[in-house]
Formats: sequence, C-alpha cells, structure tokens
Amino acid sequence: MNLKIYNSLTGEKEVFKPLLDGHVGMYVCGPTVYSNVHMGNVRTFLSFDLVYRVLQYLGYKVRYVRNITDAGHLTDDGTVENDRFVKQSRLEKLEPMEIVQKYTVDFHNVLQLFNLLPPNIEPTATGHIIEQLELTKRLLAMGYAYESNGSVYFDVRAYNEKGGNYGELSKRNIDELFANTRSLDGQDEKKNPQDFALWKKASPEHIMKWPSPWGEGFPGWHLECTAMSTKYLGDRFDIHGGGMDLKFPHHECEIAQGTACNGTAPVNYWMHANMLTMNGQKMSKSTGNTILPMELVTGDNTFFEKPFHPSVVRFFFLQAHYRSVVDLSNEALLASEKGFQRLMEAVKLLGQLEASSSASEGFDVGAWHEKCVEALTDDFNSPILIAHLFEAVKYIFGLKEGKGKLSFEDLEALREHMDQLVFDVLGLQAVEENNHSKLDATLGVLIELRNQARKAKNWALSDEIRDRLQAEGIELKDGKNGTTYSLN
Ligand code: AMP
Ligand code: ZN
Repeated sequence: MNLKIYNSLTGEKEVFKPLLDGHVGMYVCGPTVYSNVHMGNVRTFLSFDLVYRVLQYLGYKVRYVRNITDAGHLTDDGTVENDRFVKQSRLEKLEPMEIVQKYTVDFHNVLQLFNLLPPNIEPTATGHIIEQLELTKRLLAMGYAYESNGSVYFDVRAYNEKGGNYGELSKRNIDELFANTRSLDGQDEKKNPQDFALWKKASPEHIMKWPSPWGEGFPGWHLECTAMSTKYLGDRFDIHGGGMDLKFPHHECEIAQGTACNGTAPVNYWMHANMLTMNGQKMSKSTGNTILPMELVTGDNTFFEKPFHPSVVRFFFLQAHYRSVVDLSNEALLASEKGFQRLMEAVKLLGQLEASSSASEGFDVGAWHEKCVEALTDDFNSPILIAHLFEAVKYIFGLKEGKGKLSFEDLEALREHMDQLVFDVLGLQAVEENNHSKLDATLGVLIELRNQARKAKNWALSDEIRDRLQAEGIELKDGKNGTTYSLN
C-alpha cells in the first residue's frame, strides 16, 4: 500500500513515509472560539476528519491533535480593540472565558452533528502559556527575535540571514517582499513589516493577559500552534493541516518558528483543505456570506428551500476532493440528497439479499475493493471512492432484479467493505435519514393540501394547517419560490 499525499510545501503528490513505521502524528489548526463556527469552518474540519478516518482504515495508529485557539488571535496585529475575544465579550456582555466556553461547546456540538471523530488531544492556547513563554525566550536567546516596548517579535530578516527560507510554503519571494514594502517610519515597534508577534504587550485595560519577563501580555497566534504541536507530537512530525487561507502567514510563521527553535523543519507533509463558497463567494464571517450549521439543518435560513440532514451535507462535502473549492447551493444539496438516499437504500438492500449457491457473476468484489483503496490512497480522493461505491450500488440494485450473482463469500465481503467504506471511512449515518426524508415528504403533502385549501379560499383550513404545525414547532414560510418549512 502506497499512500500518496499532496504536500503543499513541495507542490507535489508524495509517497507518505511516516517518521515512525505504522504511526502518524497529525496536527490540525482548530477554531478561534469567539463565535459560532460556520459551514466553511466545518468543511475544513471535515476534510481532516476524512484524513484521520482513512489513515486509521489503512491501519495507521494516529495521534491526532487539534487545538482550541482561545486567546491571542487578533483581527489585526495590534491593539486590544482587535482582540476577537475581548471584542466579543463586550458585545455579549460576558467574560472572555465565558465567550470561549460558549463557542467551544458550540464547536463540539456542531462537529458531533456532522459525525466528526474527536481528536486524541485537544489542547488550548491558554493552557500552554508557559510553553509559549519558553519558546519566546529560546528564540530571543538564539537571536531570532527581539523585544520592543514589552512585545517580542520574530525577526524574519535574521531568520533568513541564518539560512531560513521564510516564504517557502506560500511561495513568496521574501527579498521582493522586503524590497517592495515601505520601511517603517521608526514609530513602529517592528524592525520590518514582515516580523510577527511572538508575545504581545497588553494594555492596562486588556483582560486576557499573563505575566512574562517583558511585562503583562498575551501570546501570538502563530506561536500557540508551534507550542502545542511540538509539545504533543515532537519537534518534527508527520502531517500538519488547516484551511488554505492559513497557509500565509500562519503556517509560514509556524515553519519559521519551528525551524529556528529546533534546527529542523517542524512538518513533513503540509496539507491544506480548500474553501467553501456559497453562491460563488468565499464563506467568511467578515463578508457576512455565511450559513451556520444549525440554520442549514433546521431549514431556518433564506438560502435553501428546505432543511438538509447532516449526513446529506457530509456526503455533499465528500463528493468533492478536499483540495477543490466547493460551492454550497440548493441544487447541489438536492442532488446530493438523492445520491445519498440511493446509497443508503443499496446498503440496506445488500443486508437483505441472499447469496447464490453458485459462483459470482457480473462483479469482482476483490478488484472493486482494490480500486476503492486506490482512490483513498491517492491523496484521499473521496469523489473517486464515491464513484466506485456507486458501481457497487448499481450492481446491488441489479441483483434484486435477478441480474448477476454473488457467492456467499463475495456477498459477505461486499457487505463488510460497503459498511466500512460508507460508515467508518466516509462517516455517513443511515437510520435517521430515512425518518428525515419521511418527515420531508409528509410536510410536502401538508404544504400541498394547504395550497389547495388556499386556492379554494378555505382560509380556515389553510390557517389551521399552519397553526397546528406551528404548535408542533414546525414553521411554514411563504416565499417567492413557494412554501418552505423550518424546525424550531
Ligand atoms: P478560524 O476559526 O477562523 O481560525 O478558522 C478555522 C478553520 O476554518 C481554519 O482552518 C480556516 O482555514 C477554515 N475556514 C475558514 N473559512 C473557510 C471557508 N470558507 N471554507 C473552508 N474553510 C474555512
Ligand atoms: Zn494553527
């Protein structure tokens, strides 16, 4: 088995060689817990859930670390006004750590909803202040950092002069960057605009702060991930993942910090999941083009005509390769729902079919399974795997109509492979979906009857349908494109 992984650092698909045979250390940047995760965030975490599941399916013992960023991720490299947690705590009139707790709980609930496996270690930035202080001291002592007005900055120019290659991941030419950026006017604390904070001085009114040799302050976001990844996985580890938008500067800085501190590149394989767009535009909190998981699942939104089951959404994401952009739209979700239902019906049917007493005909289970594994080992190609699954689906429906035969051994093998691939590797969940589609169909009938009542000007009946559904927590909404429902 040759697992190939696209390494963002080299821009190539490489044969995966773990540092320790049979074991994988994987770190994925977790959420900044100052607001609800949106579907774009979910897509990235789901991409790495697939990676985690596939690695385990292939027999690796994985230590999967995904952090919680609960301090230090500023909207800008600056003042207390830019601290996301402080800002949000003012807005919601809560303590910053209440904000952290609230949105950490939301994050866990959402990931559970989409059936993501928990990581093996989930460290928090605030739980690793000491480690971050130690790293900062080391970088200062080694001449890779400087103190300025109570803050400590990583010195990008010094790093490159000592043999570092800042820009190697994001393919930026650092000399050009230096040449093209105006030199700072001397008012700034930094020597160069490219320098980034390892430790930031806190102003007196800043609530989230810790004592340090340089006065009270808080850690820089990039350093948090270096501290937590190397603590649990070692100075050099196998896989580091995150969304594409974290490549620069976050991951570029992590490489520089790790290399400077330990004299070794911290990561062997850098993996970046591509973005989720909605109606063609990147899903992002700052532009307001977001949809929250619960809004999608309950139907309480203005984008989609009906609610979609979490497993349908999961299936929709997995129908695209993790390195492709995915666009969330009503049509795409409806199509995924159909595909998902057909897949689930086939799995159910497979459980009921009887084996033939003669040899198999029309399907080579062994060869088919090999193709499935090949798709997974080719940089976690879930869409190709799904295409292979649908070859089996077609065959399974054919069997019902008397086309083809499966021997006892082949039937057992096909059942086992389908179960593992659909439920363990893709992480789909079956049972509830059937209830969900029944609910969908039932409400479709009620909406249709209400429309007929309205046409007949039988307002009493049409109102009664709406009100009684409302009493059951189901809200009907009349829009331009007809009536939709949401579950309250
Ligand atoms: P944050 O909480 O902002 O640090 O983001 C958590 C993760 O979500 C990061 O890995 C981001 O790269 C990822 N992310 C943010 N927006 C999107 C999007 N539109 N599509 C996919 N991933 C995203
Ligand atoms: Zn990170």
